Amino acid sequence: MIDRCFNPACDKQMRYLRDGRVVRVIRRDGDKTLLRHYWLCGDCYDTYDFAFPPGGEIVIEPRTHVHSHQVQIGDVLLISRAS
Ligand SMILES: [Zn+2]
Repeated sequence: MIDRCFNPACDKQMRYLRDGRVVRVIRRDGDKTLLRHYWLCGDCYDTYDFAFPPGGEIVIEPRTHVHSHQVQIGDVLLISRAS
């Protein structure tokens, strides 16, 4: 499902999930539901976090809050505007 860090400047390979943040993005496209997982490695998650602007894309932005040493996993629901 995930093979590398979402930060293109990092590109670290995921061997096992032990740090960082995983989001499961759920897209509804007509009557299809698409699931994708994205991972930021622990080093990148120290500096960046996922952001979900209204256009539906997934970006990273600099973090302002304090690092947690637990893996963060959560769902994000993006509604496609195409239909
Ligand atoms: Zn990384």
